[in-house]
Amino acid sequence: MFTSFEPKNTLLLGPGPSPVSESVLASLSKPTIGHLDSSFFVMMDEIKMMLRLLFSTTNDITFPVSGPGSAGMDTCVVNLVEPGDEVIVCINGAFGQRIAESVAKVGGIVTEVHSEWGAPTQPEQLEQALLKTPNCKIVSFVHAETSTGVRNDAKTLCEIAHRFGALTLVDAVTSLGGIPVCVDEWGIDAVFSGSQKCLSCPPGLSPVSFSQRAVNKANSRTSPIPSWFMDVTKVASYWTGQARAYHHTAPVNALYGLHQSLVDYHSEGKELAFTRHAAVSTELIKGLAILGLYPLVEKKYRLPQLVTVKVPEYLDEEKLRKVLLDTYDIEIGAGLGKLAGKVFRIGVMGNGARIENMQRLLSALSEVLVQDFISIKCKTEAFG
Ligand SMILES: *Cc1c(COP(=O)(O)O)cnc(C)c1O
Repeated sequence: MFTSFEPKNTLLLGPGPSPVSESVLASLSKPTIGHLDSSFFVMMDEIKMMLRLLFSTTNDITFPVSGPGSAGMDTCVVNLVEPGDEVIVCINGAFGQRIAESVAKVGGIVTEVHSEWGAPTQPEQLEQALLKTPNCKIVSFVHAETSTGVRNDAKTLCEIAHRFGALTLVDAVTSLGGIPVCVDEWGIDAVFSGSQKCLSCPPGLSPVSFSQRAVNKANSRTSPIPSWFMDVTKVASYWTGQARAYHHTAPVNALYGLHQSLVDYHSEGKELAFTRHAAVSTELIKGLAILGLYPLVEKKYRLPQLVTVKVPEYLDEEKLRKVLLDTYDIEIGAGLGKLAGKVFRIGVMGNGARIENMQRLLSALSEVLVQDFISIKCKTEAFG
């Protein structure tokens, strides 16, 4: 017979999902109510308010898309990009490339601006591309590139885009909650995030926000929005306004979880949360240095919430991750794409960003590397 699934208790210190607290887990198992229940609308309104605080915006259209971060990305893209629109996408990692693919799928004409993986997009690169693309309608980039651990200068990139009359479409999946995301002040027009990174909620929801300029662009399209589900003009009638019409059956319990994670987040306060992410990350990097492990990214571009660590020549990083997971119940992430095998990735996200978690990881690493590193180096088949 089939029996219930019993997940193990792993300390999640990879690139997401991050550790989910007891309070959020408990909220998920509360009784399911109807997605059109008036008390549920009250909770939805609170989610919107708490998301606006987090995004630093007054945008009316601010809500969680029912789907993972990638669904939020597609929501931004299908509403803003029309066939034939010229779009500049800054790429310095796997997630920038993903935006370029999404834009191309709806008929956008993509100009890719590439920088080295591990370095940020330089403002001059975007300026040069905009000079060569006078009809550019949208500039897109990833604020916190989780594949490399780099922070792109969102404020400056948005400023440049607006100077050239382009809208901005920003991936804030890993940035939201871990570092400031100032949607109104920086002039971000469409932004998407994810529940499972610095908000420490289970995966499956993608907070988005649209500026008035973005809403105008969606409303003044000459071609229809190429998605029924992600058409923001339709889904907004469920999330905003007086009528609250049925659009799709909202993931009721998942939204309890997001609500609770936002309550917990705001009861700490975002400034304290940013400080905690930065402080815990600094401690992690100090501890890694003692073990002879160093970050890939230069300090001024380094994200606190996602640390990419260079793999020393002697080390089999795949085996290292396997031992950490199997023996110590700690998950860290592999390198992605071009950085596969060259780095491993440590998430310092949400509830993961606590000193005691880093101490547990560092002591496991030191056992594996210092006492046991002969076995990693020589007896690799033992773990195969
Ligand atoms: C995780 C992540 C995504 C994708 O989110 P999913 O929830 O996996 O769809 C997109 N962009 C960045 C920067 C991410 O870290």
